[in-house]
Amino acid sequence: MIDSSLKDIAAALRAGRVSAVELATDSLARIEAGNGRINAFVTTCRDSALQAAAEADARIAAGTAGPLTGIPLAHKDVFCTEGVLTTCGSKMLTNFVSPYDAHVVTLLKQAGAVMVGKTNMDEFAMGSSNENSHFGPTRNPWNPDCVPGGSSGGSAAAVAARMVPIATGTDTGGSVRQPASFCGVTGIKPTYGTVSRYGMIAYASSLDQGGAFARSAEDCALLLSAMAGHDPRDSTSLEREAENYGRDLSKPLAGLRIGLPKEFFADGMADDVRAAVDAALAEYRRLGATTVEVSLPNARLAIPAYYVIAPAEASSNLSRFDGVRYGHRAAAYTDLNDMYCKSRAQGFGAEVQRRILVGTYVLSHGYYDAYYIKAQKLRRLIANDFAAAFQQCDVIAGPTAPTTAYALGAKTDDPVQMYLGDIYTVAVNLAGLPGLSHPAGFGAGGLPVGLQLIGNYFDEARLLGVAHQFQQATDWHARAPRT
Ligand code: GLN
Repeated sequence: MIDSSLKDIAAALRAGRVSAVELATDSLARIEAGNGRINAFVTTCRDSALQAAAEADARIAAGTAGPLTGIPLAHKDVFCTEGVLTTCGSKMLTNFVSPYDAHVVTLLKQAGAVMVGKTNMDEFAMGSSNENSHFGPTRNPWNPDCVPGGSSGGSAAAVAARMVPIATGTDTGGSVRQPASFCGVTGIKPTYGTVSRYGMIAYASSLDQGGAFARSAEDCALLLSAMAGHDPRDSTSLEREAENYGRDLSKPLAGLRIGLPKEFFADGMADDVRAAVDAALAEYRRLGATTVEVSLPNARLAIPAYYVIAPAEASSNLSRFDGVRYGHRAAAYTDLNDMYCKSRAQGFGAEVQRRILVGTYVLSHGYYDAYYIKAQKLRRLIANDFAAAFQQCDVIAGPTAPTTAYALGAKTDDPVQMYLGDIYTVAVNLAGLPGLSHPAGFGAGGLPVGLQLIGNYFDEARLLGVAHQFQQATDWHARAPRT
């Protein structure tokens, strides 16, 4: 049953063909069977899940259930969950039990979704491969010798391995879209400000945005509709009415103009990714869309701008982890300053320390104008490029990542190579736009390829509708890895 669409699961729950307790039990059994191999979960919550499932069954019986009531769900371990370990993939927070729920967690509880566990991730969401987790790397369900992508790799792998039908993630520079691509699932990151960041442990606040993973765009629409909405506790949360992101699912593609940025189709894309993306675009044309070439002339500046701005914000955000009120504290130290230094040196992994050092450097006196201010100017140019491109098209399409999933360890010695894997995703966050990745075929070694759709501000419903039309005509999203 977990392998069915959310619509079918909800219908089965209503008809009494399955109970929420049975679904939660099945999900937990699948996690238990597969997690040794995939390492998608840091924590599972059997007792609270079964309790929540029993409550969901009561709601279903009372006729007050919504579309997510009784559906097993996993949260990325970046979201604070009351009474449940919240590690953010870090040694710094190995002992942190959050005293409150993130806004997204509250909303999904209210919707009746059943949290079965918390998923593995790159430490503080910094990474593109999930190899930066204190809890060891998550493995790709399509090939356990390969990475699942990052930083929300645990959530993507959990959905791909059919442990849960839906999971949350966060995307600062691609962390929903890129693991969705590597794991062959659908993932959406909405317009900045759509999903509350309250209780979502901060990496780079002007870029961070919660997002949704599911097998299909239709299921992503249901999850995102429950996650979004104004929250006064997040000062960047947009004051907009709640939306039904599934409203355009049945809209035909005839007349849709898909922009293809010539910079995305230049050198750098692997041959197998190109072949799958080209075939998917041909399918879109067959379904009635037209493709037009557009240009994002400053796209090549997105990686340098992002890798100045994100570490700058991270260096500030992570200053709160000092070992005083919560988190790891060094066992032995000489004075207060030594306690801060030792706790942070022990609690943060290498990549997090690298980002803090880079961020502190680019914000320091004498370098601030040369790096940080310059990067902010590039950010504006990148956003302007998208605005110009959307004069000529309705959505933008291209690859999500330049390659399919690579072998564990292949890029860990070379951070710059790792950063370059974010080439197609980071510009979207710099501009604050919505982006989606959906399965578009398979490359060498039978590994999934993702197609990225980028929308104008607040065009989530359109992106999901476009992807849904593609998924009605293809079955890439329905393929499952052998377990
Ligand atoms: N790979 C990018 C980084 O390491 C993006 C991560 C993310 O979106 N959280 O910063």
